[in-house]
Amino acid sequence: MLDGGRCDSCTHGCYKYEDQGLVSARLRSDPVQITVPDAPLRRLQISLSNDCNLSCAYCGPEWSTGWQRDIIRNGPYEVGESQLNNTNWSRLWDRMKQRQRSTDTRFFQLLLREIELATDLEEVAVLGGEPLLHNQLPEVLTRVQGKRVTIASGLGVSDSRLRQFLKRHRGQNIEFMCSAESTGEAFEFLRNGITWPDYQRRVAMISDSGHRIKFGATISNLSLFGLHLFLEQYAPRFSVGLNPVTDRSWLNANVMDEASKQQVTEQLRPWLTMPGMTQYIQSLQNPATEPQRAMLARYVSEFSKRKQQPTAWMPAEFRSWLGI
Ligand code: SF4
Repeated sequence: MLDGGRCDSCTHGCYKYEDQGLVSARLRSDPVQITVPDAPLRRLQISLSNDCNLSCAYCGPEWSTGWQRDIIRNGPYEVGESQLNNTNWSRLWDRMKQRQRSTDTRFFQLLLREIELATDLEEVAVLGGEPLLHNQLPEVLTRVQGKRVTIASGLGVSDSRLRQFLKRHRGQNIEFMCSAESTGEAFEFLRNGITWPDYQRRVAMISDSGHRIKFGATISNLSLFGLHLFLEQYAPRFSVGLNPVTDRSWLNANVMDEASKQQVTEQLRPWLTMPGMTQYIQSLQNPATEPQRAMLARYVSEFSKRKQQPTAWMPAEFRSWLGI
């Protein structure tokens, strides 16, 4: 890494996207050249747990307990040669109480102590699951007072819990990185477990409380259909970052029919200057393979049936191409 080469984890994290012509997390970050192995920690991303009330269409049981519960109830998703299933680790995690797997553990106390000792630490990002569901989040935030803090949230919490959190942390330097990329029915399909009116109201609550907001939009074939409407609503007032969908090849942007590709390209033309947008539009030129089409058809049918979510918001040509 110090020599600018790639190791396996670099390939998994960033280079596999760059190899497809997409913008990776590495390229989206400010370039920092690190030349010594014992450089001080400046930025920390930490996931408190995978507790989450939502089951977003591109997520999975490894990141969300909402997904784990779906699989316990309805069985694994069979998607071609892939299977989305609970692992032994997620089953064990599910049986542990939140207290046992949180800041009360010796490991977590040591980690919090290390954070306090990391005097060069400038920025802490708390990731999910859903951080706002975690009872120890306030304790973590107390330990990182004075640092720049980002909370990544899908806003899948009750209004009362969010209100209480905002009241408790009024004035603290916290930025919310809210996840979304569509509006209306498309949003409710992709961000299963939260309604579009609830999401908009919670964004307004955060904004009214004085905390900064930016959005993280996950780019998949399904999210491209409503992305222009989301951008029209929020991009004039807030920063929106585009992130590629990970580890679901049937959800890659290019897995759609030709007519839908043209439609999406036209709809997103006004947004081509956004960082990464040109690469996503260019990636549409890659043809979808038949296995990807078949996997997507199976996945969309199964997901919409389990979640009782309509698919009528998807373009007619796309649904006919999928055969759903
Ligand atoms: S909010 Fe985040 S963790 Fe929860 S299901 Fe959606 S993507 Fe996964």
